[in-house]
Amino acid sequence: MKRRIAIFGSTGSIGTQAVDVIANNSDIFSLEVLSAHSNADLLIAQAKQYHPNIVIITDESKYEKVNSALENDNIKVYAGEKALVDIAGSDTYDVLLAAIVGYAGLASTLAAIEQGKTIALANKETLVVAGDIVTAMAKEKNALILPVDSEHSAIFQCLVGENNNPIEKIILTASGGPFLGKKPNYLINVKKDHALQHPNWTMGAKISIDSASLMNKGLEMIEAKWLFGLQNEQIEIIVHPQSVIHSMVQFEDGSMKAQMGLPDMKLPIQYALAYPQRVKNDFKRLQFKNYPSLTFEPADIKTFRNLALAKDAMFKGGNSPCILNAANEIVVEAFIKNKISFLEMSDIIETCLEKLTFIEKPSLNDYIQSNRETRDFASSLIK
Ligand code: NDP
Ligand code: MG
Repeated sequence: MKRRIAIFGSTGSIGTQAVDVIANNSDIFSLEVLSAHSNADLLIAQAKQYHPNIVIITDESKYEKVNSALENDNIKVYAGEKALVDIAGSDTYDVLLAAIVGYAGLASTLAAIEQGKTIALANKETLVVAGDIVTAMAKEKNALILPVDSEHSAIFQCLVGENNNPIEKIILTASGGPFLGKKPNYLINVKKDHALQHPNWTMGAKISIDSASLMNKGLEMIEAKWLFGLQNEQIEIIVHPQSVIHSMVQFEDGSMKAQMGLPDMKLPIQYALAYPQRVKNDFKRLQFKNYPSLTFEPADIKTFRNLALAKDAMFKGGNSPCILNAANEIVVEAFIKNKISFLEMSDIIETCLEKLTFIEKPSLNDYIQSNRETRDFASSLIK
């Protein structure tokens, strides 16, 4: 039996790479569902090439266009956010690749977990916003969450075969992004085009800005805490500019395992979709002779304050990571639209964390409300 895959966010950086992985392994995967938000043209092209059963366009104004283009293709076309939730909870697929960016991915991921589906999770924001609720529900419903994020895939791969041997700590590697080594007097003037130029990875706009500001590593700390059931103190960050070691685990006997490879998201995507199988492929191989030195240095959290803010939010717990995430989504969008400077992003996030109501044990509704309130408040701080 082929594994039936649904890709939510098929038009994005992760989504398009996942479509390739599936197309190259049509003996083990079948592509059943695709979803896009606004990129109707690419969604239509993907549907015509790969013939899924269902496509969803969440921007309802694009429905007519997609529907009429696929009229004769025997593909069901749905529109709107609710369609994502409905299809996520349906039995039309086995594995959901959650590759929508941001808070927008939460509701459909929860709907899939509710049905005990296997989730290949790229959408880290889901765990940042409501990691306690998401992981508790996954446990209750026997839903497997397989990380796609390269660092978390690395840790997951290091843990395979360890039979629950306790972890002493994990070390998340960070490339440092395009502004590694820079100081505030430089960052004050940087613009989006430069921030979007990641040295090692080609990714969507939001995560590229998050990588430049080190917020991405902050979100990943919180993601790791929930995925691997860790105490805050067990998570360390080290800057490793070559992005060859994707992350490490240290066990209680002091032994450390690392997972390595070239920076290419197709490998963690394929691993999550085919888990526990390793599938032969022709991806470029790592050659040590091309990397005569692998280097490590501490992160500069005085300059890259987002990482410090994320760490504080993780230690504070409750709805703080949800506030952090919502404020970050607003400031990244504003930075991309040239409305605020690079350093102002941290100022606004910090103000949100100070001003919004702290809730120690939030319900899902509390998270939904905190997200909305934070977005409104952060937007009000941007002229
Ligand atoms: P992209 O911006 O490239 O793609 C985002 C996808 O989500 C697109 O298909 C987009 O549709 C869709 N989308 C955007 N807004 C909404 C919405 N409101 N409702 C429904 N769908 C929406 O992002 P990436 O692929 O880079 O990242 C996706 C997720 O994976 C993020 O959470 C990111 O942190 C994570 N990730 C990404 C990595 C990477 O290498 N790119 C690495 C590790 C994690 P459309 O384009 O049609 O508007
Ligand atoms: Mg990552």
